[in-house]
Amino acid sequence: MERVNAWNTYDPGMLKSCMDLADDYKSFLDQGKTERECVDRFVNEAEENGYIELSEAIRKGRKLSAGDRVYSVCMNKSMVMFEIGTEPIENGINILGAHIDSPRLDVKQNPMYEDNEIAFLDTHYYGGIKKYQYVTIPLAIHGVIVKKSGETVILRVGEDEDDPVFFISDLLIHLSQEQLKKPGSTVVDGEALDLIIGSRPFTFGAEEEKGNEGSGKDAVKKAVLRILSENYGISEGDFESAELEIVPAGRSRDAGFDRSMVLGYGQDDRACAYPSFRAQVETHDLKRTSCTLLVDKEEIGSMGATGMKSRFFENALAEVMNLCGEYSELSMRRALANSCMLSSDVGAAYDPSYGGAFEKKNTSFLGRGMTISKYTGSRGKAGSNDANAEYIAHLRGIFEKESVCTQTAEVGKVDQGGGGTIAFIMALYGMNVIDCGVPVLSMHSPWEAISKADLYETYRGYKAFLRDASFTNY
Ligand SMILES: [Zn+2]
Repeated sequence: MERVNAWNTYDPGMLKSCMDLADDYKSFLDQGKTERECVDRFVNEAEENGYIELSEAIRKGRKLSAGDRVYSVCMNKSMVMFEIGTEPIENGINILGAHIDSPRLDVKQNPMYEDNEIAFLDTHYYGGIKKYQYVTIPLAIHGVIVKKSGETVILRVGEDEDDPVFFISDLLIHLSQEQLKKPGSTVVDGEALDLIIGSRPFTFGAEEEKGNEGSGKDAVKKAVLRILSENYGISEGDFESAELEIVPAGRSRDAGFDRSMVLGYGQDDRACAYPSFRAQVETHDLKRTSCTLLVDKEEIGSMGATGMKSRFFENALAEVMNLCGEYSELSMRRALANSCMLSSDVGAAYDPSYGGAFEKKNTSFLGRGMTISKYTGSRGKAGSNDANAEYIAHLRGIFEKESVCTQTAEVGKVDQGGGGTIAFIMALYGMNVIDCGVPVLSMHSPWEAISKADLYETYRGYKAFLRDASFTNY
């Protein structure tokens, strides 16, 4: 079955909406390069759209009823939002769930060293990356350093035009005969991903008088530490309680002469987090309560308090049901089992340069709309959620009614590799879940690409889902 190209379905009004959405999306990508930055932006925008903090509502003993909007944040890295519908929550809610962590390099806890008058920060990569893609590109440092006093210093260096950037070196081609014989997985070792952050000892002028950094061992490292101390008030020991992420420096861009695509860092899975958030705040007067989850740690297995496997979502739902006056253990279990979810995660777009990795009938293509994946997993669907046929039929009806361009896909050919999402975790409650999102080219690379039309179709699809999904198991 062939799918239509979404661009061919647009009138001038839709075309403008599609391009405008992509412009706002790019500003989101540029602001939110880490989980914390995404949560910051989403919280601000949620509050502008009438969302109040759940803990605040609990403290004030506020009752919630249809039309009320609440959000809750976990450790500044995960977030859940609800708009209360007119139906009892026990009948089930409609959930969009995306992740806001992306593959990158994390700074180690004891990271600083100097080697032959070059200062480095040692890193440990996070998520699935091709390590060789991270050398010789401009990199930025984003994150927080929390001092013993409890004060949080926010670091974001490498994004402004006049900021310095950082980089990881690679061996010059002239001397790479041995290196290039290695397989791609080891051509750059994980332990070799050390960030270059300085090369100048303080050997002149007033600087020297201050503390003689110019002489002796590790003069470059000491000089960098002095800058960190003067600019941010932090010392070497403060790296111990820091979360610093090394990401590609620079902003997202339109790609192609026709500006049909967006090239940017972290589009897995912010290409789905963004339309999920938009759909959540722009959908009103609902029968079923709507919910959007924006979670951390998906790229490393959804572990930890801020990952999908934690009880964060369940606890927030219990509190919301309590404020609605309908909490009981049984009601909550029913609510969870009766819920519908789109696990808003990206898919692998067909790449003509590597066509052999895909099975073309069951692959998503740039520009053909929102991708629906019944299952993911690898080696015989292992680890996959595998959505229910009855639920998929229900969703097909919703998307068709709104003329949303959709396509179905799995991750590449059978036994070519694979991947997972948060779908199986929410399915543990017995709810209906399916993966559904934007196809991405060069997924997990420093600069991923998507089609603006796919972003727009996904946004339209998510809105239709929150408004119209009503499938229950009982
Ligand atoms: Zn991913």
